[in-house]
Amino acid sequence: MNGVVKQLTVISGKGGTGKTTVLASFAALAEDKVMADCDVDAANLHLVLTPTVVESGDFYGAQIAVRDAKLCQQSGECERYCRFDAITTTDIDELACEGCGMCVVACPNGALRLETVSCGQWYLSETDYGPMAHARLSPAAESSGRLVTMVRQKAEDTAAERGLALVLIDGAPGIGCTAAAALADVDMALVVTEPTLSGIHDMERVVELSGHFGVPVTVLINKADLNAENTRRIRDYCVENQFELLGELPYDESVTEAMAHQVPLVEYRDGPVTEGIRQAWSRLSQMLSA
Ligand code: SF4
Repeated sequence: MNGVVKQLTVISGKGGTGKTTVLASFAALAEDKVMADCDVDAANLHLVLTPTVVESGDFYGAQIAVRDAKLCQQSGECERYCRFDAITTTDIDELACEGCGMCVVACPNGALRLETVSCGQWYLSETDYGPMAHARLSPAAESSGRLVTMVRQKAEDTAAERGLALVLIDGAPGIGCTAAAALADVDMALVVTEPTLSGIHDMERVVELSGHFGVPVTVLINKADLNAENTRRIRDYCVENQFELLGELPYDESVTEAMAHQVPLVEYRDGPVTEGIRQAWSRLSQMLSA
């Protein structure tokens, strides 16, 4: 690397394509890096890297309505105006409340107010492979895009404090706000895809999202031997769009076994998939250093 902190996000169009397997192996192969698990809705990098938490805190995102019982005259205006059926004259359903504030305005007695609540935790941890920022979103909580931004900020601060050269980001699948927050302003995206029609469609959507942020795209095909025709289509797609195809990994049972043993694949067993990931990392690190 060239002295500036670089950021790489590994993404996929949907869950289960092998994105975290690849990222965990990169964590074992790369030097001077911090990991950021930005798949906050379904975080699982910690299952492989087994972090020890050294710092943590609440994430305050959403607002919900809170009632002052002393002021409430049970007018029922809150219940009448709430479009989300989240409030009655006696109860507030915290999971249903969208924090729109309508009841606050409607209450003739000023008995309601909005309060910001904790909707998850962020963590800074140590792993055998370096520091890692991650998070856990409370059940049914939203604002996950902002939590991703917070996780990235923790990782970037750690890189700056410790003089690390790279932030390795496990992005969220899909094209929602968490996926977008994990991609914005990074130096490169690696799309891990599978040779299925839905895999190709999902890949095209995340490529479009990367294009929106002006992030250069590279591609890695996982389970490439499962459908030769679709693998050829992905190859053609990369050529047409001038995306570098970093490798074609065959299907291999040891991928699941490594996850079950909580070890990055490259440290679990040598084989074609491990070799493919090593080559992909070697090329990526060259590109990030350029
Ligand atoms: S803040 Fe909005 S969603 Fe929540 S209880 Fe009040 S009116 Fe309903």
